[in-house]
Amino acid sequence: MSEDKIGFIGVGNMGGPMALNLVKAGRRLVVHDMRPDSLKPFGNQVQIASSPAEVASEAEIVVASLPRPEIVHDVVFGDKGVAAGTRRKIFVDLSTTGPRMAKIIAAELGKRGVVALDGPVSGGVAGAVKGNVAVMLAGPKREADIVAPLLAPMGKVFYIGPEPGMGQVMKLINNVLSATAQAATAEAIVMGVKFGLDPTLMIEVLNAGTGRNSATDSKWPNEILPRRFKGGFATGLMVKDLKLALETAEDLHVPMWVANAVKQLWLYAEGRGGPDQDITELVKHLEAWTGVTVKGK
Ligand code: NAD
Repeated sequence: MSEDKIGFIGVGNMGGPMALNLVKAGRRLVVHDMRPDSLKPFGNQVQIASSPAEVASEAEIVVASLPRPEIVHDVVFGDKGVAAGTRRKIFVDLSTTGPRMAKIIAAELGKRGVVALDGPVSGGVAGAVKGNVAVMLAGPKREADIVAPLLAPMGKVFYIGPEPGMGQVMKLINNVLSATAQAATAEAIVMGVKFGLDPTLMIEVLNAGTGRNSATDSKWPNEILPRRFKGGFATGLMVKDLKLALETAEDLHVPMWVANAVKQLWLYAEGRGGPDQDITELVKHLEAWTGVTVKGK
C-alpha cells in the first residue's frame, strides 16, 4: 500500500503546504479541492480529481484537511463523497473536527469496510510549510502504522491511542492553550502599552522570562509587532476549536472556567472582525477598547 497514490482533499492554508511536502518527498498524490485557485501551486506534479469520490477511486489512503466537522462529514458521506469511491481503505482526517465527529465517521465508515483515523495537526502555516507540524494520529494501530511513515514528510507523527477521537481531543487541548496564550498576551501587552511601556521590549523581556508562550515566541515578533497580521489561521476556525473543546468538556462533565472566559473574548473578536479575520488580529479589538496601538519599532 505504501507505493500507492495518496488522496488529498482540501489544500488550503494547511493542506496546501502539507500536500506539497508530500510531493517533494516523492509521494504520488491525487488531489481535490472545490477552489481551483488552491490547486495552482501543484502545477502538473499531482493528479487532479473532480470529486472526493474520484479521489477515493484512485487511492486506498485518503486524507482530508477541511475547515469544519460538517464539511468533513459531507465530503465523506455526501453525494460523490469519499465513501462512494471504489478503492478507499483508510481515511485520515487531518482537520480539527472534534471527537464526536471522529466517532461518527469511524462508525459509519467502519460499516463500509473503511478504517478511519483522526490526525489533526498543530504548528500553523509556518510549520506546514517547513514540514514540522505535529500530527496527532488516533485509531487502530495497524492502520496508523501504515499511515505514519507516509505522512512523515509533513512533520512529526505522534500515535495518541486506539480510540477514534483521541487525536482530536489532544488537538483541542493544544488549541485551548494556544488560544489562552494569545488572549492573555494581548490583554497584558495592551495594558503595558497603555502605561507607556515599549511593546518590542516587553516581548523580549517575556521571552527571557517565565511569561514566554507560543504567542510571545512567534506570533508577536513575526506578525503582531510588525502589524503584518498574516498568521494564516482564521478567527472563525479558532472559535470553532474552542466550541469543540468546551462541548467535549461538557460531555465529560469537566469544568473549564478559564477556557470559557477565553472563548468569550474570541467570540467578541469574531463578532466584530468577522470569521475570516486572522487570529493575530485579536489584539486590535483590545486596542479599540483602550485607545492604544501596539506597534513594534
Ligand atoms: P482553509 O480554509 O485555508 O482550507 C480548507 C480548504 O478546504 C480550502 O482550500 C477549501 O477550498 C477546501 N474545501 C472546503 N470545503 C470543501 C469541500 N466541500 N470540498 C472540497 N474542498 C473543500 O483552512 P485551513 O486553515 O487550512 O484549516 C484546515 C483545517 O486545519 C481546519 O480544521 C483548521 O481548524 C485546522 N488547522 C488550521 C491551522 C492553521 O494555522 N490554519 C493549524 C492547525 C489546524
